[in-house]
Amino acid sequence: MSNNNLYEPDQDSLSPNRNLCPISTRINNNGELEIAGCTLSKLANDFGTPLYILDEETIRLSCRAYKEALRRFYPGESLPIYASKANSSLAISKIINSEKIGIDVVSEGELLTALMAGISGDKIFLHGNNKSFDELKMAFDNEVTIVIDNQNDIDLLGKIVTSGKSVRLMLRFTPGIECHTHEYIRTGHIDSKFGFDLDKLETILLQLKEYSWADLIGLHAHIGSQIFELNPHYDLTSVMTDALKLSIELGHEVTEINLGGGLGVKYTDSDDPPSIQEWVRTISEGLVQACNQRNLKLPRLICEPGRSLIAIPGVTLYTIGSTKEVPGIRKYISVDGGMSDNPRPITYQSLYSFSLAARPLASPLEKVTIAGKHCESGDVLLKDILIPEYKSGDVLVVFGTGAYNQSMSSNYNRIPKPATVLVNEGSADLVQKRERPVDLLQYDLLPERFTVVT
Ligand code: PLP
Repeated sequence: MSNNNLYEPDQDSLSPNRNLCPISTRINNNGELEIAGCTLSKLANDFGTPLYILDEETIRLSCRAYKEALRRFYPGESLPIYASKANSSLAISKIINSEKIGIDVVSEGELLTALMAGISGDKIFLHGNNKSFDELKMAFDNEVTIVIDNQNDIDLLGKIVTSGKSVRLMLRFTPGIECHTHEYIRTGHIDSKFGFDLDKLETILLQLKEYSWADLIGLHAHIGSQIFELNPHYDLTSVMTDALKLSIELGHEVTEINLGGGLGVKYTDSDDPPSIQEWVRTISEGLVQACNQRNLKLPRLICEPGRSLIAIPGVTLYTIGSTKEVPGIRKYISVDGGMSDNPRPITYQSLYSFSLAARPLASPLEKVTIAGKHCESGDVLLKDILIPEYKSGDVLVVFGTGAYNQSMSSNYNRIPKPATVLVNEGSADLVQKRERPVDLLQYDLLPERFTVVT
């Protein structure tokens, strides 16, 4: 992070995905970094490191940005839903529920979390390309909308839905729009494990008409993640509207279109994602135009952001430990976490911004690589960055870690998962406890013969 570039709202709109850090990030009178009035080095001291921090205000602002933009730009009904795969917990789900938006889940665990947080079934959408009987049954029992992805979903639901009842369905298909981070290509068929192929749509729609229990209310597509262009989603609206027209012609009362998530966020100074408002405006205008051209009533517009809602509210605190200098090649600084709490750099070569918690304004002094503590050479969090003078014990802040960090974390090397602290207006609440090494043993069992002393 360029050290003095803290939160700078857009001129005309607040869109946290365009900022590197939570909106309440400040440098306090002691020259230290704080979020929501909580000094980061104190949080590290009180709760230990590595530590995930989530800023409640930034989460709420992101939810409101989606809601308000939909209200402003889409003349029909709408609902943003949070893709909880990005980060699922009771606390986040409670915030989502209190902001009156919906949630998408992909497993029994995510569904249970949403239900336990009090989210009602009509605001929950179950996704997944290989849903189990139990997941589908749990969704059916709780009146959750099920996004069918393949024939297996239909076959299992046929066994689950009790006679005389029906189940709200959305149908996910592969729209033939493929996205990469900075480019997109349109293909006839895309290589994806998710959803029905576009050319099978008619067959599936006809098949669903035969099941009295199948109440097809909507269509769904998701084209990718961390997308910076607006065109792919604009193009998606017309593919979806063709599918909507076909569904209606075949006798389905489809009234909802879900365009998925995918809006990118600013991880480094060079990232320049569209704002939430621009993105919503694009999909809204696209859908209105496509419906007008086909003489269709406006459907309820659903979108399901994950990253753009929860990445920027999150930061991770680490403590700096050992240093190793490979003369003429590289200087490694190791921290007390790494690929188990943030697998994105080793998986996708993702880049992040950082700062020292106690000296955010110190001038960069030398080029170093921040390594994790795991037994993998590739366990590097920040490669070739310029860091100010530092010492072992200093707290390092990595920004933009709210999405796909905690939810993708692992126990590699039997390293316990970090705690999560929710900060808001000067208070810091533990919302996920730190695992202890002993917790990791709780599912280990020994065959009886191993315990027999010989
Ligand atoms: N919806 C679906 C079906 C997804 O698979 C994903 C992410 O993979 C999302 C929504 C959220 O995407 P993002 O985090 O890019 O907004």
